[in-house]
Amino acid sequence: MTTLTNLLDLDPAQLVAYCGELGEKPFRAKQLQRWIHQFGASDFDAMTDLAKSLRDKLKTRAVIAAPAIISDHTSADGTRKWLVDVGQGNAVETVYIPEENRGTLCISTQAGCAVNCRFCSTGKQGFNRNLTVGEIIGQLWMAEFELRRTKGIEPGPKGERQITNVVMMGMGEPLLNYEPTVTALKLMLDDNAYGLSRRRVTLSTSGVVPMIDRLSQDCAVALAVSLHASNDPLRDGLVPLNKKYPLVELMDACRRYLEFAPRDFITFEYCMLDGVNDSDQHARELVALVQGSNPVPCKFNLIPFNPFPESGLIRSQNPRIKAFAQVLMNAGIVTTVRKTRGDDIDAACGQLAGEVKDRTRVQERMKKMADYQEKFGSNFGRIVEISS
Ligand code: SAH
Ligand code: SF4
Repeated sequence: MTTLTNLLDLDPAQLVAYCGELGEKPFRAKQLQRWIHQFGASDFDAMTDLAKSLRDKLKTRAVIAAPAIISDHTSADGTRKWLVDVGQGNAVETVYIPEENRGTLCISTQAGCAVNCRFCSTGKQGFNRNLTVGEIIGQLWMAEFELRRTKGIEPGPKGERQITNVVMMGMGEPLLNYEPTVTALKLMLDDNAYGLSRRRVTLSTSGVVPMIDRLSQDCAVALAVSLHASNDPLRDGLVPLNKKYPLVELMDACRRYLEFAPRDFITFEYCMLDGVNDSDQHARELVALVQGSNPVPCKFNLIPFNPFPESGLIRSQNPRIKAFAQVLMNAGIVTTVRKTRGDDIDAACGQLAGEVKDRTRVQERMKKMADYQEKFGSNFGRIVEISS
């Protein structure tokens, strides 16, 4: 038995090669790609401008299959969260965050994560596996066309695009699943697929220095770096990867990246942890780090910590976050604090769902989330709004 090729796994060049193997001209690949990524088609028979003979060939050899949806929740504020099945008992989350003039999709790149940051529940699950291209781009494919179906918006370029921005800030470290991540990024940018500009796609990394350099050459989208600490000893304890790539190397990598980046700044994410990294002294140290003798043009995005019981960590109080932000702003650094949204559904940075054996397990997890919310108040499980 031949295995079917999932066309969601193929980037533009691979699709051309694939059509070549079927004896088809390159423009057929473009047509096919538009059917898949602009019309959300999964049925070859719907692709009316392709010859019947080609459609019949495709039906026997290929499939267009995104990960199956396990659950789908919409918050009162329009935030929508899907839990999708990526096989072998693993599930990842995809979150859509609507705003006035844009819609941002937060996607996952791995089931679990090997980096094991102290404040992140994804890290606490350990690493399960890398997602495939089809599973990464499939989140965008699924979300865009699900949203259109819900709102009665026609597929294709004429229908209003729902997802205008993508952030790789879900589960996993994208730069440790490099090739599939870059292939998915290329599809996001391709004019015959999603046609997003590089400025509207942001990759967030915990700081895999050599891969930041590779990304600058292969697909330089906007870059967010999870900093979380103002000095090496503190960062070593929060982001273990810092022991391998300490701050001076990370800052150098950021500077190099900026030569190729679509924006003229790096976004530093900083998770606000009560009594750990949130003093004025830490803020001053950050200013010195990014404005010292070798400055890094940057913005700061302060993320109020989303607590989970096993972490033993506490979210900084709002006045502390404000004071911290003020120190940065007084130094002329643009600083935003992520607002929390979607508090009636259980999704949050670093709290994303982990291993699921079956639907019962998912229900159990959902129940557990609800219990946490009861215990930790309505703030628990809020998902955050990405503002730049
Ligand atoms: N692995 C990548 C991208 C996914 S995490 C990275 O670390 O950058 C996306 C963001 O959520 C990161 O900045 C991460 O540090 C942050 N985050 C993780 N756990 C969190 C938590 N419990 N509360 C708030 N932010 C968290
Ligand atoms: Fe992995 Fe990012 Fe979580 Fe760290 S914060 S454990 S890198 S997903």
